[in-house]
Amino acid sequence: MDTGKRTLTQDYIGTEARYGARNYRPVPVVVDRALDCLVWDVEGREYVDMMSAYSAVSHGHLHPRLVAAAQRQLQKVAITSRAYHGTTLGPFLHKLCALTSFERALPMNTGAEAVETAIKCARRWGYRVKGVAPGQAEILVARQNFHGRTSTIIGFSSEPDYRDGFGPFAPGFRHFDFGDMDSVRAGASPNTCAVLVEPIQGEAGVVLPPPGFFAQLRQWCTQNNVLLIIDEVQAGLGRTGRWFAFEHEGIRPDALILGKALGGGLLPVSAFLADSAVMNVFDPGSHGSTFGGNALGAAVALEALQVIEDEGLVQRSAELGEYLIARLREVQAAVQPLVRAVRGRGLWVGVDIAPAHASARELVESLAARGVLSKETHETVIRFAPPLTITRALIDRAVDAFLHMALEKRRTFAIKSIATPVPDRATETA
Ligand SMILES: *Cc1c(COP(=O)(O)O)cnc(C)c1O
Repeated sequence: MDTGKRTLTQDYIGTEARYGARNYRPVPVVVDRALDCLVWDVEGREYVDMMSAYSAVSHGHLHPRLVAAAQRQLQKVAITSRAYHGTTLGPFLHKLCALTSFERALPMNTGAEAVETAIKCARRWGYRVKGVAPGQAEILVARQNFHGRTSTIIGFSSEPDYRDGFGPFAPGFRHFDFGDMDSVRAGASPNTCAVLVEPIQGEAGVVLPPPGFFAQLRQWCTQNNVLLIIDEVQAGLGRTGRWFAFEHEGIRPDALILGKALGGGLLPVSAFLADSAVMNVFDPGSHGSTFGGNALGAAVALEALQVIEDEGLVQRSAELGEYLIARLREVQAAVQPLVRAVRGRGLWVGVDIAPAHASARELVESLAARGVLSKETHETVIRFAPPLTITRALIDRAVDAFLHMALEKRRTFAIKSIATPVPDRATETA
């Protein structure tokens, strides 16, 4: 029996561990409440949120306008299913189309569902418009992609952890190397109906495309009658300092996938967007979702888009993102060789840690102990992606904590390496 006093933190972590499936390894912080860019744990400790739930909380936690929009709608109706029309869905879809300049939008809930929608649309377009032989449609995807966790989607992941033991996988996907046009050409066939790709590979470690890659990919897709579908579930809605990350590349895709921030940090709301020539392959009965486009989600998502516009969050992401990256590069110089690279766009930054010196995970946990929430991806990259409402002062607080932690880490590392006994001749020749 444990006779010592258990903390609340240990209690909650213990209950999750006892009754939950073991499919996550969370940072050991028990969040009790949050407001805008700050989070408090059950012990009352305060944290700066530099993670924002992978961009789902781009508006900051519990944005008052979004909470008010939800409360207003909760006085009326929340869920009707798509068996009936409603008063919030049309205005939401209208706003989404106006912002993206696509003609039609199909609402879903999670990002993975919107990706599934894109896959179904691309295949049907392949058969009905492009003329691919039945059952032969192929979709090109990038290596190191992340598009969600359904059994179809993980089937074309290149991450062994996501796939192991979950086969057999759906056929009809081929891989190319992100940023490499030759490998796109090598992976293509006359049955290729679409390229599905992230504009920046987030899960892979915030990997930016080489300049000009997307322009060439756009041109290749047009020449080969292949749909270019961009997954901006994480990159979209201001995260990279533009409304949509594809704008950095000077292109327009044939279809777009949104999610995460679309729900304003309150609800899961996603969408698939395309022009009528593509979207109209869906007819009644061909696709749907019980909760997709629900009255409450649509009311919140419409307000979420409006808030980004009214508060200038896209411009803010561009400016403060530049500041965050500049400050992290100062840290990189101060603590070398601990940090190998700092890369990102807007308020979306990956800090690449030299694995000989520390794992990203141990630094994420040390940072949490210093009041900063971040998250590792793979073994070597720490992700910083705060709410777009973050201030310079809070960025400074987070970066200073990172600097002090890294200096300490480097000091212990340096002492450790000095302390390593130099082998004498006898052991060397032994
Ligand atoms: C998070 C994410 C998804 C999946 O979204 P879920 O809401 O977790 O299903 C898909 N694509 C990208 C690029 C993502 O970042």
